[in-house]
Amino acid sequence: MSTPTDFASLPLPAALLTNLADLGYSSMTAIQAQSLPVILKGLDVIAQAKTGSGKTAAFGVGILSPLNPRYFGCQALVLCPTRELADQVAKEIRRLARAEGNIKVLTLCGGVPFGPQVGSLEHGVHIVVGTPGRVLEHARKGTLDLSGLNTLVLDEADRMLDMGFYDSIADIVEFTPKRRQTLLFSATFPEGIQQLAANFLRDPQHIKADVEH
Ligand code: ADP
Ligand code: MG
Repeated sequence: MSTPTDFASLPLPAALLTNLADLGYSSMTAIQAQSLPVILKGLDVIAQAKTGSGKTAAFGVGILSPLNPRYFGCQALVLCPTRELADQVAKEIRRLARAEGNIKVLTLCGGVPFGPQVGSLEHGVHIVVGTPGRVLEHARKGTLDLSGLNTLVLDEADRMLDMGFYDSIADIVEFTPKRRQTLLFSATFPEGIQQLAANFLRDPQHIKADVEH
């Protein structure tokens, strides 16, 4: 049995579907086709697929579909291993969100001054994309409120573990609601990922597509 690859087969807002078509996303990639039906049900997911397979739009659409633009609070948090990756992810989410018009996506990474980030947070934010160290700093200082979070995404989880971010991720999770959706994306599936999943995901569905050989 084949999985539908048309975005229109998913229960998505019309504006988002139109925007996907405008972006030239005429059909879903394998990881999107397999993970999105599960993500849109609100379940936790571990998704494994190689680099370039469209993982960002998989969780991006998953974040945007239930997002409430009228509530100015952080509803989704994407953790990435580096500032470059956080910038790329934020850019892709902004492209996916442009039809909605008023969705604020903020990057919070280290290596840049803290103060201006606080100023941006005070203006209200819907989606935060950042690296674990700086996100944790904001959560601890109370400048980032994660109590209204719906979705936590661990992107490039294998690389975050390689970089020693396990403890920071664990500390960030403490600031998020227990009733949240957690999505873990990774190109590889080393042992540490299973521990991460066991501790922070609830009955995750494992989805594998386009795996590197
Ligand atoms: P990954 O995170 O898996 O490495 P990306 O999310 O960075 O991959 O996506 C790789 C490229 O594929 C990006 O340029 C993105 O815009 C493009 N892309 C994603 N989904 C689709 C799609 N459904 N149709 C066409 N291009 C897509
Ligand atoms: Mg990626």
